[in-house]
Amino acid sequence: MAKIWEYAIVGGGAAGLAAAVFCARSAAGDGVILLEKAPRVGKKLLATGNGTCNITNMYAAPARYHGKGAAAFVQSALEAFPPSAAISFFESVGVQCVVRDNGRVYPLCEQAGAVLDCLRLTLDALGVTQRCDAAVTALRRRGDTLVLTAGGEEIQARRVLIATGGAAAPALGGSAESYALPVALGHHKTPLFPSIVQVRTDTTFVRAMKGLRTDATVTLYHNGSLVAQHTGELLFTEYGISGPAVMQISRTVGDWERRKQGTLTAVLDLLPTVSGEELLSLLKKRQELSRRGEDFLTGLLNKRIGQTVCRAAGIGLQDDTALLSDEQLSRLCAAIKSFELAVIGTQGFGGAQVTAGGICLDEVDPHTLRSRFDRDVYLLGEVLDVDGDCGGFNLQWAWASAYIAACAATGGNI
Ligand SMILES: Cc1cc2nc3c(=O)[nH]c(=O)nc-3n(C[C@H](O)[C@H](O)[C@H](O)COP(=O)(O)OP(=O)(O)OC[C@H]3O[C@@H](n4cnc5c(N)ncnc54)[C@H](O)[C@@H]3O)c2cc1C
Repeated sequence: MAKIWEYAIVGGGAAGLAAAVFCARSAAGDGVILLEKAPRVGKKLLATGNGTCNITNMYAAPARYHGKGAAAFVQSALEAFPPSAAISFFESVGVQCVVRDNGRVYPLCEQAGAVLDCLRLTLDALGVTQRCDAAVTALRRRGDTLVLTAGGEEIQARRVLIATGGAAAPALGGSAESYALPVALGHHKTPLFPSIVQVRTDTTFVRAMKGLRTDATVTLYHNGSLVAQHTGELLFTEYGISGPAVMQISRTVGDWERRKQGTLTAVLDLLPTVSGEELLSLLKKRQELSRRGEDFLTGLLNKRIGQTVCRAAGIGLQDDTALLSDEQLSRLCAAIKSFELAVIGTQGFGGAQVTAGGICLDEVDPHTLRSRFDRDVYLLGEVLDVDGDCGGFNLQWAWASAYIAACAATGGNI
């Protein structure tokens, strides 16, 4: 007779791997099977934090999560499994953690590969069966058990935890198909759009600054009203803007891109620590240097950024800056403090770190993550309509959701 597994976990990403550890710790590991469609588990995890894995964030709180009803929905999971619990969990599997700037937590060794290795080694030690190249294509109830179809084979389980992720980063396993199993059960999904993603803008001036990084405040205006703002590192690219400051507000761009209503403008303050007044008097003082336009801002801004800003303000690179009028100086000041770029859209799911949108939260119990369509099915991680800010919040959701789903599925205290 075919084995009936106690727990089948679909998806060997962050949430699925953690859920497998939790289930195996609470029940017996030989009753747990992890099914992953890719040849290896944890491909996306390896790419997190540019290969260093920003495991969690000490400031994880409901307000950092988005989606319809997400802030209220994530509360029980964050209370049951706060960032400190994530740190203790990782230390229990052998990953020593360190808290860095803005509450971001990383493995001390700065290797995402080590985080994955420690999770895999723990699963091996607990006796969990991991099956790769095993895409689950169907899930149905047969009496007391759930039957999964993976690669033509039938797998029976008493409880199923769906951790199939989202549509972001297809090169790392993301796919719109991630939602197919819950949708087949009767679940609905909200519109999907990319978040934590690079932004495409008008490139008339931007292209000349390609590859340059600077600290800036990025503000988004929708039809003239401020809708998002963040200060941090900005990167100019071939297609527009990127870097942490842009990633942090890119959800607004993704949402606008799917609606296509009105205009969205990004305004860059390229000297956020200097006020407009201070800047104007600095520029007046710099006129004493008697430089050409091409070097007027050299020493104040990155040289290439300075030259581009001058061009945008209508100041020629060969102009004698000692002769600039007050009106020209004000224009230059405005170009530095409010450099305007028409937003075109995002770089799509291909460039995105996370999917905004997902399985509707009112169809899942927030305390257990149990599906309202089958008492033995649980949904966790990015497949749900929950996306966090940039900075470790998404992995925190993966671990915390895995924890409460596993506690509920096993009826145990882990
Ligand atoms: C480049 C990049 C960097 C990132 N950096 C960070 C960071 O530093 N910190 C942070 O907090 N977040 C980061 N994120 C986001 C974070 O990685 C995700 O939010 C998180 O991995 C989601 O976990 P998950 O388990 O829900 O989904 P995933 O990690 O996407 O895992 C889902 C898994 O399910 C498998 N699967 C899908 N369908 C099936 C099926 N039918 N059958 C079997 N298997 C299936 C997939 O192949 C995949 O392995 C980053 C994302 C990217 C792309």
